Amino acid sequence: MDKKKHTFNTKVIHAGEPDPRIEGAVNVPIFQSSTFEFEGQTDYNALKYIRLNNTPNHIVLHKKIAAIEGGEKALVTSSGMSAITTTLLTFLKNGDHLLANNTLYGGTADYIKNDLPDYGIEVDFIDSADPTSWEEKIKPNTKVVYVETITNPLMEIGALDKIVAFANQNNLISMIDNTLASPALFCPVQHGFDISLHSATKYLNGHTDIVAGAIIGNEQHMSMITSKLNHLGGSLDPHACYLLHRGIKTLSIRMERQCKSALLIAKFLENHKKVKLVNYPGLVSSSSHNRAKELLCGFGGMLSFIIEGGVEAADAFIGKLDIPISTASLGGVESLITRPVQTSHSLLSDDELEFAGIDKALIRLSVGIEAVDDLIDDMSQALDAI
Ligand SMILES: *Cc1c(COP(=O)(O)O)cnc(C)c1O
Repeated sequence: MDKKKHTFNTKVIHAGEPDPRIEGAVNVPIFQSSTFEFEGQTDYNALKYIRLNNTPNHIVLHKKIAAIEGGEKALVTSSGMSAITTTLLTFLKNGDHLLANNTLYGGTADYIKNDLPDYGIEVDFIDSADPTSWEEKIKPNTKVVYVETITNPLMEIGALDKIVAFANQNNLISMIDNTLASPALFCPVQHGFDISLHSATKYLNGHTDIVAGAIIGNEQHMSMITSKLNHLGGSLDPHACYLLHRGIKTLSIRMERQCKSALLIAKFLENHKKVKLVNYPGLVSSSSHNRAKELLCGFGGMLSFIIEGGVEAADAFIGKLDIPISTASLGGVESLITRPVQTSHSLLSDDELEFAGIDKALIRLSVGIEAVDDLIDDMSQALDAI
């Protein structure tokens, strides 16, 4: 059968695997070798060397990730931030202008605001949910538009199809951070985005044991990004490649459980008298619900909410929980809970928090794969106890 016809659940297991298998090994072993024998290569980037991202552990991942996101090529990197910064630096030069969504992952927002101006790169922010406001932000030197599939921590979904059309009309490179959706829910390149980016630390790997990034795009863009990455040096170690490869194989089954559980937890919280507000695209009350239904294959494993009693009650609630672990990060098999203002969004000033609509008492939950009844019982006892 033509392997291209396989659906997602089969591709995460079989796509990109070596053919023939290496020594018949069902699993790709770790090639812990920095350099490989010279084979007469004429291109520097083809010399087999870990920093050049082309050892057998890189290649299998590149093929698998490209196949599951439906892109021509993929590249793995040493972290999500290295995927993001390397890609931005590939397409933005001194004198260029970038349009970025007004709520972004904290590290990305900080980099765009505080580091890119040092290279002479200007930035303006847009509301990705309001297409009528974009045109006036375009400048003759605008080169890139940058958004996220599901924003963190408010779980909003922009007018992603219109971002693609806007980028095409204005000759911009469109980039999207697809971390919170993962290819199980959204494949940006198939929707017309030029480049999809991931913190593979999160859902792609799913086991809270490595830091890694991924980039997906067409051959021409990916060759430019590869040269830049080879210079900047953000390559993924073979052992981390191996763990990421192993993690990806369970992506679809993890995400299926996480989406189901997140919806049940969101509904439980929305109906609880001590809960003021729940942000989850799967709820009919979410302003992103219709867009999520139209664009995504599921509503995701992340939600955020506010309980009565402000910051004090929020911290007391987190303290009373038995199962979710209090920490930043997300997308693991274990449920993780945090107050973003204390962790992932602690770099933002009060004005920036207000501008982004992030309440100090907001709690964010990354739903793991535990039994959902246990998670709901736990939330229920913690709400009763405060
Ligand atoms: C975690 C995260 C990043 C950064 O990834 P690292 O792997 O920590 O470098 C970027 N974008 C989003 C949406 C994230 O959640």
